[in-house]
Amino acid sequence: MKSLVILGSGPAGLTAAVYAARAGLAPLVLDGPNPGGPLITTPLIENIPGFPDGIAGFDFIQLLRRQAEKFGTRFHSVQVENLAPRPGGGADLRLGDGATMAADAIIIATGAGHRRLDLPGETELSGHGISYCATCDGAFHRGQHIAVVGGGDTAMEEALFLARFASQVTIIHRRDAFRATRILAQRALDNPKIAVRWNSVVTGLVDPAQGKLTALKLRDVKSDKESRLEVGALFVAIGLVPATKPYAGVLELDANGYLLTDGVRTKLPGVFVAGDVADALYRQAVTAAGSGCQAAIEAMHYLESLGA
Ligand code: NAP
Repeated sequence: MKSLVILGSGPAGLTAAVYAARAGLAPLVLDGPNPGGPLITTPLIENIPGFPDGIAGFDFIQLLRRQAEKFGTRFHSVQVENLAPRPGGGADLRLGDGATMAADAIIIATGAGHRRLDLPGETELSGHGISYCATCDGAFHRGQHIAVVGGGDTAMEEALFLARFASQVTIIHRRDAFRATRILAQRALDNPKIAVRWNSVVTGLVDPAQGKLTALKLRDVKSDKESRLEVGALFVAIGLVPATKPYAGVLELDANGYLLTDGVRTKLPGVFVAGDVADALYRQAVTAAGSGCQAAIEAMHYLESLGA
């Protein structure tokens, strides 16, 4: 039987696995350092069709994983270091444990991680006042003063969304102008609930020792003045980092490091792509799952064409 290897175990990779396994391909999923992807840290996802009461990200990923296993998906926990195309199609993978693996078809679904502030306490407070997704967690902070850090489109969208729930939203941006498109930036600036701290960076989180975020330490980068902002939550929107390092130089990347694709196809025969690793725009569990389904169907057709 020809081999199908799926890289990544978020909604895209696991949905691809369900489809491929049901088709009898016994796919192998290679789990990287963060099995399940960023979704796993989301306390409650309320917008996945079929879960009217919402579902925790961890539980959702567990269900998907069980579903993939039920039909014969195999899992191996290892990072992929490098992908090298094979002349007849498919690719050889060099793995973090030093092994190499040949695959007739591959689905890359390694996702994208949120860029982090890298401040002390950030990890401990994630899900306890610090979030990277307003649509996931905004409703938990109804009536609170909420801060958003970042000056791009995502920060504007997050701030505008959060303004529906919050008593006030403060955007903290390190420069004196937004990077966001004018229309989104203007919408945020026009919103009476949204204020902006220009030229400011977050230098500290208060208070990891209490297990919840209560305030931010800020520094004005022009005057060097330090200040404190009492908030109930901080939404970090400073860009995403697609997990595409192993494919640089082999597959085409855009300026932000996302894989450039033709739908779910790449220029390499037998190498397909699904989910956020190639999607800087929608970045939803449902859209990732949808493209995982598409990639699996394309991979099945490709393997059939080889006489699998
Ligand atoms: P982005 O455009 O890369 O913006 C990131 C923002 O975070 C920038 O303002 C940047 O500041 C700031 N930043 C980066 N690192 C930082 C750090 N360590 N500390 C503090 N601030 C930091 O990312 P994005 O907003 O997530 O957007 C990603 C892509 O998706 C963009 O192409 C965007 O247009 C697109 N997008 C589109 C829509 C839409 O069209 N509706 C919605 C969301 C995203 P500087 O400006 O100083 O660099």
